[in-house]
Amino acid sequence: MGDRYCDFAELEKAEREGTHFRRFSKRRASNIAIIAPHGGTIEPGTSEIALAIAEDDFQFYCFEGLVDAKHERFHITSTRFDEPQCLALIKPCDVVIAVHGLEGSSKKVDVGGMDIWLRDQISRKIGEAGFGSQTMSTGNHAATNRRNICNLGKMGRGVQLEITRGLRDAFLVSDPKRSWVISAACDSVGVAKHRRRIPCGPISPEPSMPAKGCGIQAI
Ligand SMILES: [Zn+2]
Repeated sequence: MGDRYCDFAELEKAEREGTHFRRFSKRRASNIAIIAPHGGTIEPGTSEIALAIAEDDFQFYCFEGLVDAKHERFHITSTRFDEPQCLALIKPCDVVIAVHGLEGSSKKVDVGGMDIWLRDQISRKIGEAGFGSQTMSTGNHAATNRRNICNLGKMGRGVQLEITRGLRDAFLVSDPKRSWVISAACDSVGVAKHRRRIPCGPISPEPSMPAKGCGIQAI
């Protein structure tokens, strides 16, 4: 594992919020959540991609490193990621999609998670858009552990996207709203929404997006 902190409580004690890390969420009248638990300097570009997928339609959450640091400093692995705001946001959601980053210059996505149907839909749509996509049913990126943050929604199953650095970089220099990964994910989530007839909940008051953060970090 190699993370510096084994859970959020440990991290919070040692690091300063707003200086070293931050968390941000957007509440929407939706039972679909798009999250980036390793955003900012941890896995650059993942917050931006998650935010673009969520747009004005879905719940959004990100946890971000704000300073350049080794990956393990702010990385709380997905099966231990227990930041309370994130848990509260996803708990009532029927669909949870977690966006992560992989190393590598190839442009591909490893798609895992226990929502097998949605996983396969998203993977297929990414493939149809002409990019590498692999459905992961075993191994590190399969996200089949029940404690994985993507599987902690109401249904106990979600989807995990592991996007290579090459593809994240390509995304960051293009118009997010036209990005293939966004349309692939949105199409799939839209299908899921209809299939499951997910009811909408009340809208909570939301803060405006801070100017700082969710920015492109250069590591
Ligand atoms: Zn990650």
